[in-house]
Amino acid sequence: MTAVSLGSLLYEGKAKRVFQTSTADVVAVEFKDDATAFNALKKAQLEGKGTLNCQISALLFEHLERQGVPTHYLGLIEPNWMAVRPVRVIPLEVVIRNRAAGSLCKQMPIAAGTLIDPPLLDLYYKDDAFGDPLLTDARLDRLQLVTAEQRQQLETLAHQVNLSLKELFASIDLDLVDFKIELGFTADGSLVVADEISPDTCRLWDQRTTDPTARILDKDRFRQDLGQVVESYGEVHKRVQGGCPQPRIYG
Ligand code: UDP
Repeated sequence: MTAVSLGSLLYEGKAKRVFQTSTADVVAVEFKDDATAFNALKKAQLEGKGTLNCQISALLFEHLERQGVPTHYLGLIEPNWMAVRPVRVIPLEVVIRNRAAGSLCKQMPIAAGTLIDPPLLDLYYKDDAFGDPLLTDARLDRLQLVTAEQRQQLETLAHQVNLSLKELFASIDLDLVDFKIELGFTADGSLVVADEISPDTCRLWDQRTTDPTARILDKDRFRQDLGQVVESYGEVHKRVQGGCPQPRIYG
C-alpha cells in the first residue's frame, strides 16, 4: 500500500473491512471476496468479487460526485482497497425501487418487474440482530436516528442517486431495478453517501436480453443459485467502465 499506511481494524462487516490509516481523516476499506445472503445464512467465497465491487463502486462514486452528489469516496488504493472519509453511518438501509422485485413481491401483491413510477423509497433499520426490519414512520420517529430535516435531506439525496444511476445504467443497457444505499455524516456534519454501490447492493437487469434468468447481473444470481456470479459482476464492470473514465488513484 503506497499512499497510506494501515492502522488498526475499525470494523469488519460481511463483505468489507475498514481500517484506520496514518492520516486521521482517511480510512481504508478492503472489499472481501466473501458473499453472504439471507442475513448470512448462505455464505461463499467468490474469487474476484471484492475487486470487481471495489472498482464498480469507485466508478459509480466518481459518477455521483460529477453529478453533485456528495460521497465518502476519496480514491482507489489497491484494486480491492479504497480510501474514504471517516463517516458516522446512520443505521438505515435506504432502498429505492424502480421495478418490483425481491422482498417487495413477497410482502405485497405486485408482480416482479412491474414498473414503479414514481420510485418507491423504503427505509430499513440496519441491525442484523433484528433482521434489518422495514420501518414505519412511527417506528422511525421512535428510534430517533435522524431529525425530520435530516430524513428529508437523506430521502432527497437518495432520489438524486437514483436519477443519476438510472440514467448512467440505461446508457449501458442496464435496468436499475432497485438498490440500497447507506448514508452518514462526516466530521463537519455533512451528509454523504457511504458504504458501496455494486451488484451486491443493486439489482441490475441486462436490457440486451429478455430471458428472465439471463438478464440478472447482480447478487440475485448468488441468492437464487443461478451461477455465473463473478462473470455477471464482470459484465457490469465492463459496461460501467465503458460509460465512465478510469477511477482515480488516491494520494
Ligand atoms: N439490499 C442490500 N442489502 C440488504 C438488503 C437489500 O444491498 O441488506 C439491496 C438488494 O440487493 C436490492 C435492494 O436492496 O437491490 C432491495 O432489496 P429487497 O428489499 O428486495 O430485499 P432482498 O430481496 O434483497 O431480501
